[in-house]
Amino acid sequence: MFLKKIELKGFKSFAFPTVIEFKKGLTVIVGPNGSGKSNINDALKWVLGESSKKTLRAKQTDDMIFSGSHTKEAASFAEVNLFFDNSNKLLEHEEDEIIITRKLYRKKNENQYFINREKVRRKDVKNLFLDTGLGNTDLSIISQGSVAKIAEARPQDLRLLLEEASGVSKYQIHKKEAVLKLEKVATNLEIFEVKLNGLKKQIAPLKKASEQAKNYLKIKEELTKIELPLIKSLLLDGYNKQDELKNLEEKSKQEKILIEKILNKLAKDLKEDQVTLLDLDQEITKLHTIQNDLQNNLNKKISFNGDKKEFSNKIKYSLYGINDLKDIIKQTENEEEDLNKQISSLKTKMFELRSETENYIAKLNQVNFQLDNLKNADKNYNQAVKSILDNKLIFNLVYGTVKDLIKVDSQYELALETAIGSKFKNIVVNNEKTIKETVAFLKKNKLGIATFIPAENVKEKFIIDELKSVIIKISGFNSILSDVIKADSKFKKVVSSLAGNIVIFNDLDSALLAAKFIQYRLSIVTLEGDIIYPGFTVKGGFSNKNIKKFELERYQLAKEKLAKVINKNEIMIDNLENNILDFNAKRDIVQKGNIRNAERLHFLEKDLQQLLESYHTIFKEEFDLEKLEIKKDLKKPLSLEKINNQIRNLNQKKHQLSLKIIDSQDNQQLQNKKWQDLLQKIQYSEINLDKIERLISENTDILNKDYQLTYQNLLEKDFKKLKEPIDEIIIKQQEYRKELRAIGYIDQEAIKRYQELTAEYQKLDHEIKELTEAKEKLTSTIDIMDQEMIKRIKNTYLKINDRFDAIFKTLFRGGHAKIEFIEPDNLLESGLEIRASAPGKSVKNLSLYSGGEKSLIAISLIFAINEIRNLPLLLLDEVEAALDEANVERFANFAKILNNQTQLIIVSHRPGTMEKADILYGVTMQEKGVTSIFNVSLDKVKEEFIN
Ligand code: ATP
Repeated sequence: MFLKKIELKGFKSFAFPTVIEFKKGLTVIVGPNGSGKSNINDALKWVLGESSKKTLRAKQTDDMIFSGSHTKEAASFAEVNLFFDNSNKLLEHEEDEIIITRKLYRKKNENQYFINREKVRRKDVKNLFLDTGLGNTDLSIISQGSVAKIAEARPQDLRLLLEEASGVSKYQIHKKEAVLKLEKVATNLEIFEVKLNGLKKQIAPLKKASEQAKNYLKIKEELTKIELPLIKSLLLDGYNKQDELKNLEEKSKQEKILIEKILNKLAKDLKEDQVTLLDLDQEITKLHTIQNDLQNNLNKKISFNGDKKEFSNKIKYSLYGINDLKDIIKQTENEEEDLNKQISSLKTKMFELRSETENYIAKLNQVNFQLDNLKNADKNYNQAVKSILDNKLIFNLVYGTVKDLIKVDSQYELALETAIGSKFKNIVVNNEKTIKETVAFLKKNKLGIATFIPAENVKEKFIIDELKSVIIKISGFNSILSDVIKADSKFKKVVSSLAGNIVIFNDLDSALLAAKFIQYRLSIVTLEGDIIYPGFTVKGGFSNKNIKKFELERYQLAKEKLAKVINKNEIMIDNLENNILDFNAKRDIVQKGNIRNAERLHFLEKDLQQLLESYHTIFKEEFDLEKLEIKKDLKKPLSLEKINNQIRNLNQKKHQLSLKIIDSQDNQQLQNKKWQDLLQKIQYSEINLDKIERLISENTDILNKDYQLTYQNLLEKDFKKLKEPIDEIIIKQQEYRKELRAIGYIDQEAIKRYQELTAEYQKLDHEIKELTEAKEKLTSTIDIMDQEMIKRIKNTYLKINDRFDAIFKTLFRGGHAKIEFIEPDNLLESGLEIRASAPGKSVKNLSLYSGGEKSLIAISLIFAINEIRNLPLLLLDEVEAALDEANVERFANFAKILNNQTQLIIVSHRPGTMEKADILYGVTMQEKGVTSIFNVSLDKVKEEFIN
C-alpha cells in the first residue's frame, strides 16, 4: 500500500484545490511557521476518520473548512481525497487504487465518507484500515509536540499502540461483539431459566390435575357409553311397568270398591234375610199349630167312617191345591222372564257407560300430561342454580327458588310472572353467611352465577303511606302485589323486597291513568300481564306467558270437566251394578222357587192319584171329577190345604232364604277372599310403583343433571343393543360412579392448560439448549480469540522490545530500554509502561528525562514498532525538533533506512533531516492565509527556509 496523492479543497488553510503527490523515497516537507504543514497531518487523520476536535486542533466542526482571508472568501465545504496504491492488496478491496474521501459542508454540518467515490459510513473507512497500521493513527501519524508524550503515555494508550502493532484490533472488535452477544445470550439464558423454573413449578400440580381430569373424563366416557342406553332401557321398561302397575292398581282399586259395595250389600242383605228367616220361622210355627189342629180334625173324619163325602172333599181339596200351585207357577215364570229382560237391559247400559268412561279417563291422562309439561316448563334452572339446589344440604340454610316459595291465586299468576318473573330463579337463603358459602362454592367449582336473597335481612320495599292512600282510590286499582302473594311468614321480607312497591291494576287503561296520576313513581302491572315501569316505560302485548296461562286454564278446565263426567259415570255404573246384583238375586230366588214349585206340583199330583185310587178301592167306583164344582169352590178358603200351602210356601221361602243365606255367606267368603287378594295386589302395586317411581326419578335426575337431557331427548337417540345383562351393566355403572365420586371435583381446563404449558416448556427448553450451545460456542470463540491475541501480543511485544533496546542503544550510545506489562499475568488487558535507562544514568522515571531524551525514547519505540510491524505509512511531524544535531543525524539515518520498507513523510525544520530527503516539498503562504505547496531543491530550501 502506498499513499500516492493527497487532494485538498477548502480544508483549513488550503483555500485552493491543492494536490500533493508522493513518490518512492524519503519525503520531507518544509516551510515557515504557520504555513500549514501540520494541516496536512490533520487532513490525513481527518480522512481516516478522526473525530476528536482536540486531535484535529479545532474548536468546532466548521474549523475544518477554510474560513476565508483578506483576498479569498470562506469555502462552503472542505474535501480531502487520499489516493492509495493497493496493488499489494493490503486493504481488503479488489481495486488497485483506493480513493478515500471525506467532505464536510458548512451549512449542513454533515460529514460524508466515500470509498472510491461511493458513499459509505465512517465505520466502513475505519474497518478498511483496521490492522493495516493505519487503523490507529496515533501510531502512524505522530503530530508535532506529541512525540515526547509517547514516552510518557498512559499504560492503556501504550497498550493500544502495542495492539495496533500486533494486528489484533480486528480480534478486539470481534471479541467485543462476541462478548456483547455472550452477555445477551447469558441474560436471555438466565431469563429463560427463571421462566422454565416457574413453568416447572406450575406444571407439576397441573400435571396431576390434568391426569386426574383425563382419568375422570375417561371413566365418564365409559360411563356415558353404557349409562345412556342403560337409562333408556330402564326408563322405557320403568314407564311401561309403571303404566301396567298403575292400571293394575286402578283396576284393583275399582274392583275393591266394587267388592266392598258387594260386601256391604251382602252384609245388609244377610242381616235382613236372617231377620226374615226368624220371622218365617215364627210364622211357620204359628201355621204348624193351626195345621195340626186342622189335620187332627180331618184325620178324625177320614178314619171315623170312611165317609164318601169326606173322601170326596179330600180329593177336592187336593185338586184345588194343585190348581192353586199351577197359578202360582205361571205367575212366577212370568216374573222370572221380566227379571231376565231387565237384567239384560241394565247390562247393556252398563257396558256402554263403562266404555264411555274409559274414553274419558284416557282423555284425562292426556290432559294431565300436558298440564305437567306446562308446569314443569319453568323448572329449567341454569347450572349454578341447579347445583345449589342439588347440594342444598351442605349449606347452612338454602330454602329454594323464589318460584318454589311463593304462590298466588290463578287470577294473579300473569301479573306476578310479568312483574317479578325474572327473579323466579333467585335463590332464597337464610342470611349473608350462607350467601358467602354458596358463592364460594360456585366460584371454587366454576359453576356459574346465581342470585341470592337473604330472607333474614333483605331490604324490604314498600309504598309510602301518602302515595298508597292516593293509589288505592284510583279506579281500576286491584291490590299491591306483595299483599296477594302467599308465602311462609319467614319469607315476609323476601316478598316485600320483591313486590312491596308493585301495584296491580285491573287493566292497562286504568293502569296508564294511575301511572300518570302518581307521576310514574311506581311499577304498575295489570292482570293481563302488561307493566308500566317507573319513569314511564311500558311493556305489554300478548306474551308467551298469556299463551301459557290460557293453555293452563284450558287444560285445567278440561281436567275438571272430565273429572266430573268420569265421577258421575262411575256413580251411575255403581248404581247399575247394584241394580243388576239386586235383579240377579231376585231372579235367582224366583228361579229357585219355580223349581221347587214344579217339584211340589209333581208330589201333589201324585198324592191326588193315590187318593183317586184309594177312592176306587174303597167305594168301588171311579171318582167323578166332573161332579166337582171346582170353579165355584175355588174361591172358598180351604183352610187345611191353604194352611198347608202357606206352610209349604213359607217353608219354601225359608228354604230358599236359607239357601240364599248360605249362598250369601259363601259369596261373602268368596268376596272377602277376593277383597284380600285385591288388597294384596294394591299393596304390591304400590310397593312396586314406589320402587319404579324411585328408579324413574333417579334415572331422570341423572339424565337431567349429568347429561342435560330430557326423557324425550333420550327417546330420539339410537343406541346399540346392550350386549350384557342389565344387572351386570348396573354393577358396572355403580363401579364407574363410585370411581368418579372418589376422584371428586376435577378441573377440565387443567388438561388444556397442561398441554399449553408443556408445549411452552418444551419450546423454552429447546431455546435454552440452543442458547447454551450458542453460549458455549461464543465462549470457545472468545477463548480462541484470546489465545490468538495473547500469542500475537506476546510475540510482537518480544520482538519490539528486542528492536526497541537495540535502537535505543544506537540513539543513546548505550543504555537499556524496554516496554513492560504492568500485569504480566493478564496479557489480554494489562497496560504497559516504558522502562529506559540512558548510559551512565540510573534515572528510570521517564518524566525526569529532558524533552530531547523523551523524543529519542519515543522515536526509538516508534522505529522499533515500525520495523516489527512494517507500517505502510509513517508521518512524523517535527518529532526531531528537540534533538541536538548529532541525534538529528542519527534519527535521519534511521529514517532513511526505514523508508525502504515504509513510506515515510517527515515534516521538519532540521537541515540534518532535510539533507537525507529524496523529495522535498515546500509549504508557504504566498498569499496571506492561503497555503500553497511546491517541489523544492535542498539548496532552495537552505536559501529560503534555513538561512
Ligand atoms: P509550525 O511550523 O509553526 O508548526 P505549520 O506550518 O505546521 O506551523 P499549521 O499549524 O499547519 O502550520 O497551520 C496553521 C495555519 O493554518 C495558521 O496560519 C492558521 O491560521 C491556518 N488555518 C488553520 N485553520 C484554518 C482555517 N479553517 N481557515 C483558514 N486558515 C486556517
